[in-house]
Amino acid sequence: MSTDDSLSSQEALAALPLRENLRGLSPYGAPQLDVAVALNTNENTHPVPPEVVEAITASVAEAAVTLNRYPDREFTELRKRLAEYLGHGLSADNLWAANGSNEILQQLLQAFGGPGRSVLSFPPTYSMYPLLAAGTDTAYVAGERGEDFSLTAASAAAQVSEHRPHVVLLCSPNNPTGTALGLDVVEAVYEAAEAFDGMVVVDEAYAEFALAGTRSALTLLPGRPRLVVTRTMSKAFALAGARLGYLAAAPEVTDALRLVRLPYHLSAVSQATANAALQHYDVLLENVEDIKAQRDRIVTGLRELGLSPAISDSNFVFFGGLDDSHAVWRGLLEHGVLVRDVGIPGHLRVTAGTEAETTAFLTALREVLHRS
Ligand code: PMP
Repeated sequence: MSTDDSLSSQEALAALPLRENLRGLSPYGAPQLDVAVALNTNENTHPVPPEVVEAITASVAEAAVTLNRYPDREFTELRKRLAEYLGHGLSADNLWAANGSNEILQQLLQAFGGPGRSVLSFPPTYSMYPLLAAGTDTAYVAGERGEDFSLTAASAAAQVSEHRPHVVLLCSPNNPTGTALGLDVVEAVYEAAEAFDGMVVVDEAYAEFALAGTRSALTLLPGRPRLVVTRTMSKAFALAGARLGYLAAAPEVTDALRLVRLPYHLSAVSQATANAALQHYDVLLENVEDIKAQRDRIVTGLRELGLSPAISDSNFVFFGGLDDSHAVWRGLLEHGVLVRDVGIPGHLRVTAGTEAETTAFLTALREVLHRS
């Protein structure tokens, strides 16, 4: 598209009777470039193992026979399998699924946010939160973190008490910084939100990559009816293309989401894919250990280059210490390596790839920084 074209398309957009709170916003747009080494969207870069591909293919073929009918609106088998996978005494009644955890978060804001309501989160955090807030006409309140991007229980709870949001969105491990929150933060936030019946959502998209000893907020669910933990099959399960996210919460939370979901929102093909994958989760999760090893290699490699990587409980590493982060981003791209410039000066974020991709990244970075 030429500059003239984009100008005219912007003018055409501005001429539409768009809702005021959507005017001037940019859509989610992580670059999808054709590069040799794509490490910019925190996907699992390991392909789906052949035996899982086979199982998914057979399951989808079976589902195809009855595609003339609407799918099971309650995705009963899938909720059962997800509960079994998560453990923690959860049952199908505690589970809900949608097309990616993005849709889960959208449904949560549709049910518990909306016009006249607010959602509090703590940037830098997942870039979709403000967009999901805008899309559901929920006021987005940007909380504050420490200078090192940390969030303490006392600070988080004080901000919750001050803003009294209808929904608090905690991201753990946090994207883009990669570090998990201590459960003391979740507990303190829940307690503060209890004073005004606020919902607390912990986005655990990257939970399976956590360092040993990091505990999931799933352990806090008993006795906390307004706590929600969201997960996804996009990362550890290597199924970003299948679009399958889910949550665990008290059964009444899933009842609330039944009020806002579209009828039959989870296609028979999605259900068949996820059900087959969950029967092989042990094979799928084998790569998680390899990815964690590559992640740790990146942390060590970055330190050797004199850079400052954050502690990572995820499949990516956020690092600082760059004089001109955008120039480094461009230099890496010239070497065929795409990482993410998250807009924080001096910092970049890189996804842990396969061993070869990780080597390509570390080698390219050394060259770009002239530190070979
Ligand atoms: N939460 C976080 C923190 C993420 O980083 C992402 C994807 N990058 C998502 C949720 C959404 O993932 P999906 O919709 O693929 O489940």
